[in-house]
Amino acid sequence: MSLPFSNSPKRADSSFCGEDVKLISYCPLCESSYTPSQTQVLGEKEGSHLLHMKCGNCSNAILALVIISTAGVSSVGLSTDLASDEVDRFKTGPAVNTNDVIDMHHLLQDEDAMFAQLGC
Ligand SMILES: [Zn+2]
Repeated sequence: MSLPFSNSPKRADSSFCGEDVKLISYCPLCESSYTPSQTQVLGEKEGSHLLHMKCGNCSNAILALVIISTAGVSSVGLSTDLASDEVDRFKTGPAVNTNDVIDMHHLLQDEDAMFAQLGC
C-alpha cells in the first residue's frame, strides 16, 4: 500500500541542499528525522530529483520527487517497499494498465489457478 503525500512550495531562493530539504527530512509514518546516509539520489533531470529515503527508526522507505523551479521548491512523496536498487527495475519497466489489474483480480478469485501460475 502506498501513501502519497506532498509538501507546499517554498521560496524561489531555496537551496536544494539547504534548510528547505527539511521538507522531506522526516519520516511521514513515524515522524523521525532522516540522516543524510539514509538518503540516495536515484536520478536527476531538468530540475527534478528522485530521492529514496529509508527511515532508521521504522525501516519504511519513501520515494520523493523534488522539483526545483523558478516558482520554488516542491516535493511529492510515496511510501514504498522498494529498496533503492529495485527502483530502476520498476522505473524502466512497462506501466501497469487496466487489463493487468483485471487479470490480477481474476487470478486472485481462483486460488488454484494463481498457485498454478506461480509454479506451486
Ligand atoms: Zn519511520
